[in-house]
Amino acid sequence: MPPPVFRFAPSPNGYLHLGHAYSALLNFDLAGQAGGRFLLRIEDIDAARCKPEFETAMYEDLAWLGIGWEHPVRRQSEHLADYRAALEDLSAQGLVYPSFESRAEIAGLVAQREAHGRWPRDPDGAPHYPGSARLLSPDERAGLLESDVPYALRLDMAAACARAGNLGWTERGEGPDGETGTVAARPQAWGDVILARKETPTSYHLSVAIDDALQGVTEVVRGQDLFWSTSLHRLLQQLLGLPQPAYRHHGLILDGAGQKLSKSTAATGLRELRAGGTTPAEIRRLVGLP
Ligand code: GLU
Repeated sequence: MPPPVFRFAPSPNGYLHLGHAYSALLNFDLAGQAGGRFLLRIEDIDAARCKPEFETAMYEDLAWLGIGWEHPVRRQSEHLADYRAALEDLSAQGLVYPSFESRAEIAGLVAQREAHGRWPRDPDGAPHYPGSARLLSPDERAGLLESDVPYALRLDMAAACARAGNLGWTERGEGPDGETGTVAARPQAWGDVILARKETPTSYHLSVAIDDALQGVTEVVRGQDLFWSTSLHRLLQQLLGLPQPAYRHHGLILDGAGQKLSKSTAATGLRELRAGGTTPAEIRRLVGLP
């Protein structure tokens, strides 16, 4: 049996905090206990929010915590061709369509729907796509694609689910309502999700599915906030013929007010704690690790 492969996959859009320390250390410890490999992946496709200084700081903070990782590190921004190829595969299967509404137009359509009753929202709380771009004629679509109107490439969820059939995953941790063991995927809960945009040929969901497969990741250990994203990752894996890892979603480290930590809270930032004299051993204790 090849060794299990774990990964920690932060986005360099801010400094790391105690929540990241917990996830990184847990992955690193589990890899060590299992005689497995530990990879670091930099999820930097959001060019507007990701900065080189945050990435440099991440390497410093993780090394300070005592974490070592394999080289080279996969940086998503260097692999856009991989995501483009996957998108072309899904398009060739007839499962992707472009939509052309602006954010304001989408908000207007959602408001119209909600005036007549409930309109579905995805697990992150965002409304499902309310438009009808899937029904544009080939000519209308071609004309808009050639114009300078921005567009989003969406997964035709009904068609994708019909193609993939019922899916599930092995959960070694637990979901927000205690889901564990074999969990049934519910990708429909995401609606016609965006896989890429005109200016960015990928999205978090598409890149994570591709990268976990290309890097041979067998154990995905990450925060419970991503629990229901796994439905979508399983769907993309199935449609693209990729292997499925096992998942372990862990509880989130909350601040004193019971809120999820954000990268901007100084009180729980690793750099601030380090500057204030906290040791790596104390960080482990703070996040409840031995
Ligand atoms: N890049 C994501 C984040 O920082 C994590 C992705 C994952 O672990 O699947 O929240």
